[in-house]
Amino acid sequence: ATPTALLVGTGRGAQRGILIKGPEVLESTRRVDTVVLDKTGTVTTGTMALVDVHTADGVDVSDALRLAGAVEHASEHPIARAIARGAEEKVGSLPPVREFAAVEGLGVHGIVDGHAVVAGREALLERWSLPLPAALAEVKADAERQGRTAVAVGWDGEARAVLVVADTVKPTSAEAVRRLRELGLHPVLLTGDNEAVARSVAADVGIDEVIAEVLPKDKVDVVRRLQEQGRVVAMVGDGVNDAAALAQADLGLSMGTGTDVAIEAGDLTLVRGDLTAAADAIRLSRRTLRTIK
Ligand code: ADP
Ligand code: MG
Repeated sequence: ATPTALLVGTGRGAQRGILIKGPEVLESTRRVDTVVLDKTGTVTTGTMALVDVHTADGVDVSDALRLAGAVEHASEHPIARAIARGAEEKVGSLPPVREFAAVEGLGVHGIVDGHAVVAGREALLERWSLPLPAALAEVKADAERQGRTAVAVGWDGEARAVLVVADTVKPTSAEAVRRLRELGLHPVLLTGDNEAVARSVAADVGIDEVIAEVLPKDKVDVVRRLQEQGRVVAMVGDGVNDAAALAQADLGLSMGTGTDVAIEAGDLTLVRGDLTAAADAIRLSRRTLRTIK
């Protein structure tokens, strides 16, 4: 391999907003046959908005918003930001939270106005022995069928509300998946979110294989398992959650719009934060390799 040709390749990449860590990265682009795509922030915009609030009988919508908004205000998660923003718009400034804690991949809890509040996945509320009443479980299932994320909220010993948050698929994601397939890559959608939301997003962009409800620390194991099956894996991600998986992958592609930790863990950075750049990066790298052979 002549270093000049490699530099031309990487220089052309830079023009298209693709930053390559080093020339050795090009080689792995030739072998990859599977591309694991993180859902939130990678396939979707990751900018969520609060779209609906449902409460149990006798529970005030504004109470649910105030309490959930207050705990979520302390979290940086995109879902949390959507809830805090939505709550502030509707009920004004939020009370402070004490003893705040985030449970990775599950949700948050804390004390607001003397109430122990928990917000997140149903599994988190179940840990607190707060099962969702049937009516709220139905609302949650409905929201998820529409590809939305339902956040269960409980306080004072009961699950009392479901807040519906929606993310949107990036307009270029379907095109990107089509192009990744054309390059011979089998796409897999990987997410901590639930199966129904994941399936709905996957269907929107043309992905058949979905691995959902994966805790952040387990994403790396998913990549490893695929590798053990003999697949050569490219991983595209944006979050702190994705860093270990990006490092484990044969080729790690980080969204330039994502967190610094993810960017550092990747071999390639997609400055635009657009998934079509992943296809560009692989095509360009392979072409560069051909010219230097
Ligand atoms: P992803 O893998 O899609 O990037 P995460 O692993 O960060 O998502 O989170 C997985 C799921 O955990 C979310 O879809 C949500 O249901 C729940 N969750 C995580 N953090 C929060 C939070 N702060 N508030 C409510 N729900 C949360
Ligand atoms: Mg993510």
